[in-house]
Amino acid sequence: MAQKEFKAESKRLLEMMINSIYTQREIFLRELISNASDAIDKIYYKALTDDQLVFNKEDYYVQVTADKNNRTLTITDTGIGMNQEELENNLGTIAKSGSLAFKHENEAKDGHNIIGQFGVGFYSAFMVADHVTVTTKALGASEAYRWESSGADGYVIETAEKDSVGTEIVLKIKENTEDDSYDEFLEEYRLKAIIKKYSDFIRYPIKMEVSGQRPKEGAEGEFEEFTEEQVVNSMVPIWRKNKDELTDEDYDNFYAEKRYGFDKPLKHIHVKADGAVVYNAILFIPENTPFDYYTKEYEKGLELYSNGVLIMDKCGDLLPDYFSFVKGMVDSEDLSLNISREMLQHDRQLTMIAKNIKSKVKSALLSLLKEERENYEKFYGAFGRQLKFGVYNDYGQNKDVLQDLLLFHSSKEKKLVTLDEYVSRMPEDQKYIYYAAGESIDRIEKLPQTELVADKGYEILYFTDDVDEFAIKMLVNYKEKEFKSVSSGDLGIDSEEDNKAEEAAESDNKDLFEAMSGMLSGKVKSVKASKRLRSHPVCLSTDGDLSIEMEKILSQMPNNQGIQADKVLEININHEVFQSLKNAQQSDQEKLALYTNLLYNQALLIEGLPVSDPVEFTNDICKMMV
Ligand code: ADP
Repeated sequence: MAQKEFKAESKRLLEMMINSIYTQREIFLRELISNASDAIDKIYYKALTDDQLVFNKEDYYVQVTADKNNRTLTITDTGIGMNQEELENNLGTIAKSGSLAFKHENEAKDGHNIIGQFGVGFYSAFMVADHVTVTTKALGASEAYRWESSGADGYVIETAEKDSVGTEIVLKIKENTEDDSYDEFLEEYRLKAIIKKYSDFIRYPIKMEVSGQRPKEGAEGEFEEFTEEQVVNSMVPIWRKNKDELTDEDYDNFYAEKRYGFDKPLKHIHVKADGAVVYNAILFIPENTPFDYYTKEYEKGLELYSNGVLIMDKCGDLLPDYFSFVKGMVDSEDLSLNISREMLQHDRQLTMIAKNIKSKVKSALLSLLKEERENYEKFYGAFGRQLKFGVYNDYGQNKDVLQDLLLFHSSKEKKLVTLDEYVSRMPEDQKYIYYAAGESIDRIEKLPQTELVADKGYEILYFTDDVDEFAIKMLVNYKEKEFKSVSSGDLGIDSEEDNKAEEAAESDNKDLFEAMSGMLSGKVKSVKASKRLRSHPVCLSTDGDLSIEMEKILSQMPNNQGIQADKVLEININHEVFQSLKNAQQSDQEKLALYTNLLYNQALLIEGLPVSDPVEFTNDICKMMV
């Protein structure tokens, strides 16, 4: 029979495939096994409506056979087969497959990127084979046909001998080249591993002749060769099983088997959705932070299956960044096998699944928080930062999803509390949610700025993570209660009396404060009488949005612009030191300057800010001693 040309499109794809440097060549087997499984499905569905046809489960399987001597790999199925016309249409062109449009758009890009992301079907065989023979007999047909091709040049179809219905595909595996070895596709153990990896959950048995050595029965120390047929795939995926059939251990094993992580997950979520979008998913909340989690190298994503066939290792679109720690898989019948990464982003089904998963994860976390507080705190220790980044990122648009998942250390409870717990025990006269930021709980505890708030008996949230204050600025308020730093200018606590007293103190000491401001010009915005200090002589507060903690964090960032918080030096006018200041102002300007600098530097140290001239500072202290 005369050789036929491939249709133009197919030819181009074929050339791309043959010359592909794609490293994941192994997916050809997934593609061929999926086709075989589809072909069996077709008989199965026919049998459902055709009384003449009986579907005996045992008769339907896929067989994979490697022959090292002849360098052939054969994939046989007992599926529906193809008649001559189908053979011509299906294997002579690929124009029907959904991936074609995508290929056009991306022709400029390199081939391997394109191939890797979606099912490429039958033609992927040419990544590993230089000659492919398909012998097939369609259900109900009297003749069988053979299709043969050595690649882009074209193909031949002729009649053939085949007794049983189904399809046999023989791949002549390529010879090794200097750069590439193809031998692995003839090795039993590799083939088994590939099948396990991609096709474990195909509904029909995938059989392989497996040979090896085993201890000989009755003869100790002796071994015998054996060859036996094994079913390589497990067929029933755990996610299709009923939840009540499964134990926690089953889920934990699945997590380990899949190498989602080496820890034991804190929680699993088994989703069986059959509403507007149909899918199964098993999701895990890990216990430990992966070593690269907070780096650019970490890649989020879930495994994506289309009807039991793995189509993507890490589908990032299924998870928002703030839930990037979630591990697991999604299987949906609604997704096409031939779907590219770019197409996925616009896939309506996938968007719906992602939305659904987001809310499942959120409720799972909330229930962990409610029912297993200790485990939630473990989780929060590992991934809380990511949630806080989530509040801060994207201009705060996800804050509503995340705010109830946040925990902060409480000054009163001496442990992590939720915002809801904080707000629900606020005394009636308390207007704000107070927080203090610093390096550690110990240091914050000693901050003079917390004195008045603590004196009032109000709870203070301690922020020790870089991102905390930034996240809170994004939240602005929680349950209509605004957040307020204990260092901010107006604490909203003072009574009318306090205010009057402060005004009086300000006007009485106007000259002193102005003189001190002058001495600290460029360093602080103003010097004033403090309302928040009780026992400490001095502290810094800020005027405006930027706090001192934020200034510290920003200053560590690359290309920081030297942005500074507007600092105010607050003096406790009830402290003995204040009298000394007043005396100095009357009698000795030099002394006033010395005291002012000392107090300012002390305030810096309390804040954990560097003193700009430590030598001068120690000299100043010595001056006080002699
Ligand atoms: P896709 O599977 O995406 O349609 P393929 O190139 O893999 O693309 O296959 C093209 C068509 O060839 C299939 O849709 C199917 O109709 C037919 N086909 C492939 N393999 C087999 C098989 N083993 N048995 C029956 N038909 C097959």
